Amino acid sequence: MKKMDFKKVIEWLSQALRCPICGYQYNLETTKIIDTKQEDASHATLLVHSDCTRCKSSVVFGISIDGAEIFSAVMVTDLTSSDTKKFSEKNPLSAEEVFGMHKFLENFDGNFAKAFAPKSRP
Ligand SMILES: [Zn+2]
Repeated sequence: MKKMDFKKVIEWLSQALRCPICGYQYNLETTKIIDTKQEDASHATLLVHSDCTRCKSSVVFGISIDGAEIFSAVMVTDLTSSDTKKFSEKNPLSAEEVFGMHKFLENFDGNFAKAFAPKSRP
């Protein structure tokens, strides 16, 4: 299988993609590939993080390449590019984890210092 040149794709995208907040064109230095998947010679998906040098907002682009067609979905984020990489490798939250947090917050007194303090051993 011929490997897609993702660096070339990013070079092209940084010319085509604009900040959804202020419309400024992205530059290559602040655009990083977080993840790539290539199914065959003409189908691939990319996860790209970019920082706007003008308004300082960050976005994650999900890009799908299907032959000559390229689709992109954009999401504004407060994650840095290293956070984006870190969290993309984690499992999604489960319903049990969300319910556990709900139960915890029901009786939480608001004391974060106590909640995050190391537990003392008996
Ligand atoms: Zn911007």
